[in-house]
Amino acid sequence: MSHIAVAIIGAGPYGLSLAAHLSARRVEHRIFGHPMRFWSDIAEAGGQRYLKSFCFGTNLSTPVPGYSFADYNGPRGLETFEPCSIANFTEYGRWFQQHNVPWVEPVEVEHVDRQGESFAISLSNGERIVADRVVIATGLSGFAYVPAVLSSLPADLAVHTSAVTSFTAFKGRDVAVIGAGQSALEAAALLREAGARPQLLVRESSIRWHDRSSLEPGLWERLRWPISGLGRGLKAKALTEFPGAFHRVPARWRTRFVKSHLPAEGAWWLRDRVEGQLPIHLGVTVVDAREVSSRGALELRLASDAGERQLVVDHVIAGSGYDIDVGRLTFVSQHLRSAIERLGRAPKLSASFEASVSGLHFIGPLSAMSFGPLFRFVTGSEYSARVVSTRLSPRSGFLAAQKKAHPRQSPASRAL
Ligand SMILES: Cc1cc2nc3c(=O)[nH]c(=O)nc-3n(C[C@H](O)[C@H](O)[C@H](O)COP(=O)(O)OP(=O)(O)OC[C@H]3O[C@@H](n4cnc5c(N)ncnc54)[C@H](O)[C@@H]3O)c2cc1C
Repeated sequence: MSHIAVAIIGAGPYGLSLAAHLSARRVEHRIFGHPMRFWSDIAEAGGQRYLKSFCFGTNLSTPVPGYSFADYNGPRGLETFEPCSIANFTEYGRWFQQHNVPWVEPVEVEHVDRQGESFAISLSNGERIVADRVVIATGLSGFAYVPAVLSSLPADLAVHTSAVTSFTAFKGRDVAVIGAGQSALEAAALLREAGARPQLLVRESSIRWHDRSSLEPGLWERLRWPISGLGRGLKAKALTEFPGAFHRVPARWRTRFVKSHLPAEGAWWLRDRVEGQLPIHLGVTVVDAREVSSRGALELRLASDAGERQLVVDHVIAGSGYDIDVGRLTFVSQHLRSAIERLGRAPKLSASFEASVSGLHFIGPLSAMSFGPLFRFVTGSEYSARVVSTRLSPRSGFLAAQKKAHPRQSPASRAL
């Protein structure tokens, strides 16, 4: 069984950025996962799909210059502000990976458990390894949230937006889409464009849309609404610039803030593809769901005591977001999961993204409860890559301690 210093699980923007920084610091590591799989799955479901973030706010990070999203898009004549296509972002991520992290191993991690002071890892190709440190960078995988009221419907009738692999598969079908966030609004638009008959079910009394950013803002607009990777405004700017400060705020305040920040809203470029294009039911809550003659019968409660009504559709798609929950990390042993201290249901992390289980780190959306909303987005990958690679670098004493513990181990590594 091979013994390594650091194992990174997940080869999306966070895992790839960390690997690039560890390599620059000559920290031995291996990284597992199919590069950019989360994004290629979205792109392959079809239709015109765009990032909600700006091009400059969707960079993968490496200390080597020349690998920003705009560095990829510019010479190819692609959009360098907004909106940037998700297919294009996936290609950018793979290009970044091929140039900066070619040693990615495209295998799944099936199991992680504690082994003494280290971790035992089983891979989908049958290999077993031991790692002194594990960094979990698996993004939103496994955290799709489907409201309990839909659990009575079979899986072919009710799915989460993340489980839709082809919008054209719904052609000619009646589909209820639940939600008013970007995923739900985009799913409704893509369904209509693919020839389905979607209807949007929205609990709120209106849909929020965010406006297009001006390309040439005036002085007042730049001062009052500064632009950053998280969007426009002073709050977004502060969260982008000072994630370390956010981590020092009392935990109770942090969790409340993370839960309420960034309410459900749609991107400006989606608005014309939804409004006036399909039925939108505002102020409705699904209170019951049953299968009737292979269709989904939804009981809807209407706002303002207007009573209830039934809607029968061929499929229901829940655009109800994600619930980050350590308990749902099924590839991590039950024993290890129960040892991880939580903030809400997310891991409680130190200033170096380390959990209460020493040697176990979490980056990406799993770290947002500790470090703020920045880490729900690609733009947080630079900060975490810098902080975690510094923590794991020889100067921090980690590598020296690791060599002392395993003196016969070859220093050679595919990632050095
Ligand atoms: C529809 C949608 C649109 C979004 N749009 C934006 C946007 O415009 N801008 C933005 O910044 N953010 C956006 N996000 C948020 C986005 O998910 C995160 O910003 C980003 O993906 C985080 O990167 P990551 O590397 O942490 O996770 P991911 O990109 O999800 O990468 C994690 C990888 O780990 C892999 N993995 C999971 N389990 C294992 C395992 N056991 N072994 C090996 N590999 C594993 C997954 O397959 C995945 O490829 C969007 C999210 C959704 C759902």
